[in-house]
Amino acid sequence: MSHDRPEAGEDSLVFAQEAGDPGSPERAAWTILVVDDEPDVYAATCMAMRGVEILGRPLHFLHAESSAQAYDLLRADPDVAVILLDVVMESESAGLDLVARIRNELQLHKPRIILRTGQPGYAPEMQAIRDYDINDYRIKSELTRTRLYTVLTSALRGYQTLSAVEATRNDLEYLLKAQTELLAANTMPAFAVGLLERLAGLYGLPPHTVFCSDGRRVHEAEDQRRRVVAALGRYADWSWRRLDSLGAEPEVRAIELAFSTRRTVTSPCGIAVYLPSRTGADAVAFLGADDLPATHDPRVFDMFVQNTTVAADGVRLVERLRDAAYVDGLTRLPNRSALAETIDAALKTPPDAPQRLLLIDVDQFSEINETFGDRIGDALLRGVAQRLMAQADASVRVARVANDTFAAFGPRDLLVPAEWAKRLDEPFDVEDLQIGLSASFGGVELVSDCVSGGEVIKMGYSALKRAKQTGHRSVAFYSHEVATEIKERTRLLHGLRAAFDQQRLFLMYQPQVEARSGRTVGLEALMRWRSDDGRLVPPDRFIPIAEQSGLIKDLGAWAMRSAIHRAAALRDAGHPLRMAVNVSMSQLLVPGFEIMVAEALADGGLPAELLEIEITESVAMQSPDIVLPRLAALKQLGVCVAIDDFGTGYSSLSSLEKLAPERLKIDRSFVMGLDADTGGGSLAEMIIELGRALGLKVIAEGVETPTQRQRLIELGCDELQGYLFSPPLPIESLGEWLAKHGEGFAL
Ligand code: C2E
Ligand code: CA
Ligand code: CA
Repeated sequence: MSHDRPEAGEDSLVFAQEAGDPGSPERAAWTILVVDDEPDVYAATCMAMRGVEILGRPLHFLHAESSAQAYDLLRADPDVAVILLDVVMESESAGLDLVARIRNELQLHKPRIILRTGQPGYAPEMQAIRDYDINDYRIKSELTRTRLYTVLTSALRGYQTLSAVEATRNDLEYLLKAQTELLAANTMPAFAVGLLERLAGLYGLPPHTVFCSDGRRVHEAEDQRRRVVAALGRYADWSWRRLDSLGAEPEVRAIELAFSTRRTVTSPCGIAVYLPSRTGADAVAFLGADDLPATHDPRVFDMFVQNTTVAADGVRLVERLRDAAYVDGLTRLPNRSALAETIDAALKTPPDAPQRLLLIDVDQFSEINETFGDRIGDALLRGVAQRLMAQADASVRVARVANDTFAAFGPRDLLVPAEWAKRLDEPFDVEDLQIGLSASFGGVELVSDCVSGGEVIKMGYSALKRAKQTGHRSVAFYSHEVATEIKERTRLLHGLRAAFDQQRLFLMYQPQVEARSGRTVGLEALMRWRSDDGRLVPPDRFIPIAEQSGLIKDLGAWAMRSAIHRAAALRDAGHPLRMAVNVSMSQLLVPGFEIMVAEALADGGLPAELLEIEITESVAMQSPDIVLPRLAALKQLGVCVAIDDFGTGYSSLSSLEKLAPERLKIDRSFVMGLDADTGGGSLAEMIIELGRALGLKVIAEGVETPTQRQRLIELGCDELQGYLFSPPLPIESLGEWLAKHGEGFAL
């Protein structure tokens, strides 16, 4: 029969074919094997029984002429119900020998065996009849049509009973196996689904089943009402619904009845199997009527109930242990680990709506706790948990991640901090107190490059920390851009440090020429970093990072010494040029900066007048109390000072007078304006005027075109620097350039 069960679990579930299962429509005929070396006997038997039906089914005869043939036939087709066997064939004992082989070798115990003999008076020993489960013993001539009918009927009845017992035994084995597998489930819903599948599988029919659990904490919701834990087939949309929300369906009534009477209820719509629990959370498994074969054996259900109860209690225990790991004991909310797993799952299969995590931190909770004590503190936290849960949409996961820090995770639109803040506005009634609370929020948008739930929670904390720095009731969102920038900076800083240690930094030199004569009077030293992949990292990118990290002190000292040594060497080679070195604020702040400079000068043998330090206007004006004494000390040595990027800051005349620099360096942005005829460059003009008034030299940087040069000369600018003359040059080409243009740059 086609009683193939859906293989509910692994392929470990293999079922014996239930041959000749009673009531099975496909297998209409009983198979009867006639073993006899006289073909006439077979023919006579068929004749006698032609058209006869026994126990509602026709008969189908097979013939074997020898015990060997019978053996092969039975091995090929074990679904034989009755064997009519001639005792004496090839030998006196051929018949009994065959019986022994059928029972022992083929292990066929169901077929009923009727021995026939031609000779009256020959009787096999009683022992053999008992040992081999032989049903009858007849003399051939005795077997008239009516006698044969009676004998076959009783044999077939025996066969039918044995088949039913075997089917039940298979079912029980199946269930036993299923229970063992069910024990491996570690949540009630998983257990319930597995159980329903197996229960339906027992009858080889599509499952229309419901598993319903009594009250108790089924999921994280503390809901004592009965709930559908799992449902399959046409009941599938009942999953997770409360039983009392399902209306007055007959199935619901059967389930309710099973719960209230604490027994299994059979109704026209199906059977509600009551599953008691030792731990208190009783359950009912409901099997739709059309899933039930008419002949189901109630003993199978008994067995099922007993085993399921044991398995379900085991699963509940596992669930409780899981709880301890994933549920916060105080509020019954999911804890940080559970939240991390939820976020992990959302990262793995992103929901349609964009997701967000909000960390919700109660402001000044520790103070409240200290003032009112732990008991009130705990009650407050439970109150907060309830308020957060109460208004949360089903798609939002609320969790408690630390003492007074809660979290909500779900669709971005449902997680607007201001709306969640409102939930805590009303004061909390705890014992006789009314306590008002506020919260601060740290938010994270879930983006695809988030690695793990744990990481996202950490991001939430860093946003929360920023929020808390601004005070109470504040909100901050984690910025993925800022984080990327920080990562990039860190990466650069590591690279820069390594490059510095491996002496992969070098200086380039850009000539500064006297405006009228075109003669080279100075060089500006500019730092260069060639990274591992051979590319030049622009100083605008790495100098700020070096400044923030403090690495600039080492870098700057190195640049200073190298530039001084280079200038000394050039002077010795007949080019006594002023060397300009850029110095940043943090360099100036290093105690003993001027001593370092003095030592480098002495060491390199360079007259101080040939060194110029460039500080930007903003640095020069920033902290005059620090900067002025430093510069004074340098000037004392004889070193020149130039104010870089002049015009971009806010120098006051008085502070400029105090600083008394040698040179003002017009910022490139004002030089660019000199190309246009339209009064552009008035700022350059003003700076040049200012320099003249204060008796300072003025140099323009970023000169790129002959027009700019022409205008600057007309305005009375003293010196010029820019691509028009030369880009910054590596030391290898500097000598050649100087030889060619040093005495006067010809355009
Ligand atoms: P800065 O001191 O204003 O340097 C002038 C920048 O303008 C240099 O860029 C130079 O290559 C570029 N430049 C020169 N002529 C022209 C021109 O005609 N057109 C254009 N478009 N650009 C021109 P660089 O070398 O990339 O340096 C950028 C900044 O990095 C410097 O600005 C300076 O603030 C800083 N820096 C460079 N070297 C050092 C150093 O050794 N120490 C310190 N503290 N800062 C440095
Ligand atoms: Ca400069
Ligand atoms: Ca500049």
